[in-house]
Amino acid sequence: MRRNFPVLVTLSLVIIALGAAHFSSDEYKSGIVWPEPVAVEPGNPSTAPADAIVLFDGTHLDAWKNGDAWKIEQGHAEVHGKSIQTKQAFGDCQLHLEFATPAEIRGKGQGRGNSGVYLMGKYEVQILDSYENPTYFDGQCGALYKQQPPMVNASRGPGQWQSFDIIFSAPRFDGEGELKQPAYVTVLHNGVLIHNHYELPGGTFWDQPPHYQAHPDKLPITLQNHGNPLRFRNIWIRENIEPLVGKQPEANQ
Ligand code: MG
Repeated sequence: MRRNFPVLVTLSLVIIALGAAHFSSDEYKSGIVWPEPVAVEPGNPSTAPADAIVLFDGTHLDAWKNGDAWKIEQGHAEVHGKSIQTKQAFGDCQLHLEFATPAEIRGKGQGRGNSGVYLMGKYEVQILDSYENPTYFDGQCGALYKQQPPMVNASRGPGQWQSFDIIFSAPRFDGEGELKQPAYVTVLHNGVLIHNHYELPGGTFWDQPPHYQAHPDKLPITLQNHGNPLRFRNIWIRENIEPLVGKQPEANQ
């Protein structure tokens, strides 16, 4: 034991020295002066965050053109007669909405519980009753219509409430109408990721391959009437989805 003593002391000193070296090294700081992230009261599962634009709170569809065509009862709106479009135009956004396909099963394939969210009126995230209802995969619930099937089928059964959370970057065009930046979309269906920053090759068409047609940076969102009485509730949108920008260190002097 005595013989080992110097070795133990040496080892201990080495360990202490290493530890000191570790803790005495300077902490990395980028020097960037960030704006303080704004405090936002988040919603609970049935309400919008404080900084969202509420598009439907269960009581009226005043934010929508043709909204008076749909039936509103018991805190939800039922598809009836027409598609509806937001009165306000939107581009980049985070969109939340909840929907329920009809509890009573009627039709099959594309004829069963069909609706859709058309971002900018042009890029459809398909809504369909895809619970044990086969159809073409790039047309099932959550598909970017005729472009990309969802990664998984996260559908709940007929009549059950479901959710979409969509993060959308609008495409950009130059003055000549040439595409400068494509659209990107991320979608969670019932909290499950089904598209991760997917690059859209263009608008979603029933009868044409995807392609872009130049349009403004902001356009209304459409909810589709496809003749099936789906219900919607709790629809809200947030427009500011840009990262914070800080000041570089050299700009602070
Ligand atoms: Mg549809």
